[in-house]
Amino acid sequence: MRRSEIGNRQSPIGNSRVLVTGGGGYVGSHVVLALLDAGIATVVLDNFEQGYLDAIAPDAEIVSGDIRNADDVARVFERGPFAAVLHFAGLANVPHSFADPEKCYAANLTGGLNLLAAARRGGVKAFVFSSSAAVYGPPERTPIPEDHPLRPISPYGFTKAAFERVLSDFGAAYGIRSVSLRYFNAAGADPAGRAGERHNPETHIIPIVLQHLRGKRPCIKVFGTDYPTPDGSCIRDYVHVSDLAEAHVLALKALAAGAETASLNLGLGHGYSVREVIATAERATGLKAKVMEEGRREGDPPVLVADSSRAKSVLGWVPRHDSLEAIIADGWRWESQHGQERMA
Ligand code: UDP
Repeated sequence: MRRSEIGNRQSPIGNSRVLVTGGGGYVGSHVVLALLDAGIATVVLDNFEQGYLDAIAPDAEIVSGDIRNADDVARVFERGPFAAVLHFAGLANVPHSFADPEKCYAANLTGGLNLLAAARRGGVKAFVFSSSAAVYGPPERTPIPEDHPLRPISPYGFTKAAFERVLSDFGAAYGIRSVSLRYFNAAGADPAGRAGERHNPETHIIPIVLQHLRGKRPCIKVFGTDYPTPDGSCIRDYVHVSDLAEAHVLALKALAAGAETASLNLGLGHGYSVREVIATAERATGLKAKVMEEGRREGDPPVLVADSSRAKSVLGWVPRHDSLEAIIADGWRWESQHGQERMA
């Protein structure tokens, strides 16, 4: 869709534009696609440390800048006014957050606060935040509802929980309403092949399995085979990245219609073990994986499954790609079409 056509579509939030930070990243780039598909004009701010310029849909306006730098943030708000901010920029890697907490806190808290302060000065009243199931820490019960205690065990999870609290305080004091979306395991790729998963280094199980099946990794390491789960490997709730993206558009619509500040889980409500992920990818591709059993990875709870009923009732969110097969099929198509480019 060209920019001129976006202008002609009926945007669900009126004529104004939205600001997306971190729109060159995995979830951010899919959200930019969903916003443009919905007719919402979008400005992206990204420092391109982890994001990719060519991951951003051509119809978005792009500003290169860093949320840790207040001048960069002020510069982007000169392009406002913005009806809303959708905030993805930050550090999302749990092991890195242990190794370099200063960097994690600077990006996720200092950067977040710079952004929120500028949003307040710029008259923004709606904010959508990319949060995480990492806010919960080891679950006491599963599926996990939003009122489960927040006991994050990584600096990353702590920054997500802390920024949710910052948002809630800004809501009470300054009237900025927000929706924090707590993703479980984002996976897959845009079904039309316009975007996909690109982390460097890659640490996530589904792209690792697919890269192995493409011959780019000698084996798949299964971290932990003695968990109290039916096959001994960890169970996660994998949710299609395009369904996550859709939830952000719904959150914007809900805020525009007056919704109150909320934190909402996004998952499918059923989990798959690491071994089931590998078996499903083998079936989808007709290829056989070489698996090595390793010790447990630090900080991995045995089971993480979302209770997403609140997102369904508050947003009307209905995931369209409700199976691991569909998620893996889209990831495989992306990997097959773009894997070589990324290796170059
Ligand atoms: N995992 C694995 N081998 C890998 C990468 C991940 O066994 O090479 C496991 C990991 O220990 C966890 C699950 O796969 O139990 C999902 O991990 P991922 O990093 O994809 O997402 P996370 O749950 O950490 O957000």
